[in-house]
Amino acid sequence: MKVYFIGAGPGDPELITVKGSRILSEADVVIYAGSLVSPEVLSWCRKDAVIMDSASMDLEEVCRVYGEKKDQGGTIVRLHTGDPSLFGAIQEQMEYLRAEEIDYEIIPGVSSFQAAAAALEQEYTLPGVSQSLIISRVEGRTPVPEKEDLEVLAKSRATMALFLSIAHIDRVCEKLLTSYPEETPAAIVYRASWPDQKILRSRLGELAQTVKESGITRQALIIVGDVLDQNFEYSKLYDPAFSHGWRKGRLDEGAENGEESGAESGKGE
Ligand code: SAH
Repeated sequence: MKVYFIGAGPGDPELITVKGSRILSEADVVIYAGSLVSPEVLSWCRKDAVIMDSASMDLEEVCRVYGEKKDQGGTIVRLHTGDPSLFGAIQEQMEYLRAEEIDYEIIPGVSSFQAAAAALEQEYTLPGVSQSLIISRVEGRTPVPEKEDLEVLAKSRATMALFLSIAHIDRVCEKLLTSYPEETPAAIVYRASWPDQKILRSRLGELAQTVKESGITRQALIIVGDVLDQNFEYSKLYDPAFSHGWRKGRLDEGAENGEESGAESGKGE
């Protein structure tokens, strides 16, 4: 028996990977997070697959399913929303599986922060504005290490994507406003890639009010940063004056490519 942790994607059932959907379609048992994974993703499953909603299960109960099937053949899929590496609570499950010598593998998925960027038609890393994306959350019922308090992270004024924080929008804004100016652009993406997706745009100074008026209290990302304003330098990657490993600049014939340009062309589509 083998356990697969699969990133189901942000909602749209077509945003699971080809590999993820293939393994899902062959699974004997599927444990999914009912509150966040679209039931449509389950349409990839075999008709006779045992499907369990993890919403009402604790870690022990999930692990019991793994344990019970240990000596049988076949596969169990643990379907996580977005990509399992972010706020997925998979580390403790893997620890259990390792201890029990149960084979497992992780298949990544499209995270909601990526679906939010697509919905906003936004690049998070604009030259001269921000070259970093901070993925974090504000403390709620679950704490955040003090060294990563939003007030500390805010000092860089980089682009931010905040998960699990929309219900604490007052606290988020209060902390971010210690470093980001009030006029910093911000956006809320509710249920990115779902049919009822909603986008709110605001400025940090009015963001809490905007969120309250919308009534959105869950399943949303908070995106903050100057990249949301359309005022930026064009990427050096496509600048005719700029050479890199794969293309010689028209105005800069003969210049050697630097390490940086190689890295940038790796990501620049
Ligand atoms: N592993 C997931 C995140 C799980 S934590 C991922 O990679 O996306 C759950 C939080 O993710 C929610 O509180 C919300 O902040 C965010 N989230 C998940 N799906 C979302 C979606 N479709 N649109 C906006 N935010 C989403």
